[in-house]
Amino acid sequence: MNLKEKIIESLDNQKEIFGDELFTSIKIEAPKKKTEIESRSKLSEENSMKKVESKSLQQFSHIKNLEDFNNEINSCQSCSLGASRDKFVFGDGNPNADLMLIGEAPGAQEDKEGIPFVGRAGKLLNDILKAIKFEREDIYIANILKCRPPKNRDPLPSEREVCSPYLYKQIELIKPKVILCLGKVAANVMLDNKDSLTKMRGDIHEINGIKTMVTFHPAALLRNPNWKKPVWEDVQKLRKLFDELVSK
Ligand code: SF4
Repeated sequence: MNLKEKIIESLDNQKEIFGDELFTSIKIEAPKKKTEIESRSKLSEENSMKKVESKSLQQFSHIKNLEDFNNEINSCQSCSLGASRDKFVFGDGNPNADLMLIGEAPGAQEDKEGIPFVGRAGKLLNDILKAIKFEREDIYIANILKCRPPKNRDPLPSEREVCSPYLYKQIELIKPKVILCLGKVAANVMLDNKDSLTKMRGDIHEINGIKTMVTFHPAALLRNPNWKKPVWEDVQKLRKLFDELVSK
């Protein structure tokens, strides 16, 4: 690997944690009082819930299962990615899964096959799941965007806005007990914030009443094997949370 490639890889790694803010400005704020943090987090959760409810429940209220929903939206051309996609990538897995994984958008291989998380990143994800005693068939996995952005760029805000109701509807139909967001982009969209991955990891968040955790995207893990340890910590916590909730 030459110097330029090393620099690009290093910037990609930093971006995975800090997002675009790394390259613009980082504002350091004084620590806030606990009560203020609690009330802000409650407000953000409520806003997020309102957004989820208004987007998914109204627009697709007539749809009662994933298959019908896929048939309804798989020819979508609501943003420019519809014209450039090879295959629409709806989602994959157990429609009654208690654990749902959410990624950012399809990559090249997903675009070819129409299935999320295939190729090297998908294989690594399967291995991570196996390590905490989940089979791929046990879970459901979907992305924020259903079509591949060119050159795997981050989804644009307009694309997230128009495509995310599909994901919210999938969540409503599947009714998972736990959600795991893979990577900063997916977590920022689902938790409606701009926090760094480091800040979001380790905590238990909530999306529309569903317990949610955050970890690195497997593709980022392929670039930086040093992140295997934090991912292992995250998924062990996830398994513990899942066992507590599902055995209730
Ligand atoms: S990315 Fe989403 S909104 Fe855009 S065309 Fe594909 S399915 Fe439709």
